[in-house]
Amino acid sequence: MNIIATVKQVPDPEAPAGAFRIGPDDRVMVSPTVSSVLSPYDESAVEAALQLRDAHGGKVSLVCLGTEPDDSFLHEAMATGADEAYLVVDDMFQNGDAFATAYALSKAIAKIGEYDLIVCGRQASDTDAGVVGSVIAESLGLPSATVIRKIEVVGDKLNAERVIEDGIEVLELPLPALLTMTSELYTLRYASVMDIMSASEKPVTIWSASDIGADAVELDDLANRSILRKQFIPVSQTQCEVIGGDSAQEAAANLAQALRSRKVI
Ligand SMILES: Cc1cc2nc3c(=O)[nH]c(=O)nc-3n(C[C@H](O)[C@H](O)[C@H](O)COP(=O)(O)OP(=O)(O)OC[C@H]3O[C@@H](n4cnc5c(N)ncnc54)[C@H](O)[C@@H]3O)c2cc1C
Repeated sequence: MNIIATVKQVPDPEAPAGAFRIGPDDRVMVSPTVSSVLSPYDESAVEAALQLRDAHGGKVSLVCLGTEPDDSFLHEAMATGADEAYLVVDDMFQNGDAFATAYALSKAIAKIGEYDLIVCGRQASDTDAGVVGSVIAESLGLPSATVIRKIEVVGDKLNAERVIEDGIEVLELPLPALLTMTSELYTLRYASVMDIMSASEKPVTIWSASDIGADAVELDDLANRSILRKQFIPVSQTQCEVIGGDSAQEAAANLAQALRSRKVI
């Protein structure tokens, strides 16, 4: 069973809030002291892929749209057991929206070909959009399901447990399909020192836009439907008013009156 997992590199979500600030352009989050990690929901997607490969054979491939041709992140990610990785880097995809990201990843996945299942995180931990997986499925014409906590493959179908507000739905999908994964049941396995050392030998293929057949006109047409104009942290103001009285009863009455006049009660 050949499984492709999309993996995004994000600023460590465990870093303190004070380590992040918005850059001078009012758009990009700047976090120079924060290390980059694999997005946590993607960790679960990778573990799900590894368990399916261990049970059914085949291979796990990782695909990342990156900002720099640095493949060390993918070698680290492969230490837990993925077989190969692909890194797409091109100026054409910089500063794009979720549709641009999904376009690039779809083209890369189509070029890899021969897949039975694609797994993505339910959302990336830095931007929390939760859009990319579904757009990849649409681009590749695949059945898809979101917010999946468990996968079981039976023949040429899969059963997927989908998390809903009050419980769990059990869905059946034909293969190939795309799922976006939650983090409830799949915790990414630890890599041993031997695994980490041997991961440096595993292949990472770096592709440009032309390598995957991406076209600037097509990208312009399909993607960049939303433009990030500004990010800001809302300023919250608190005011304190002391309501007193000559006695506890009078203070309580004044308080009730003040709350009523502000339509709180
Ligand atoms: C400088 C800058 C400018 C930006 N401008 C815009 C803009 O104008 N408009 C706008 O909408 N957004 C903009 N963004 C946001 C950025 O484009 C988003 O990161 C992108 O849309 C991907 O969406 P997401 O990370 O929210 O993915 P989600 O949809 O939340 O991710 C879901 C899953 O998709 C997969 N995935 C997502 N991204 C990748 C990736 N790169 N590689 C591999 N797998 C991935 C992962 O499995 C992930 O768990 C900008 C970002 C930057 C840094």
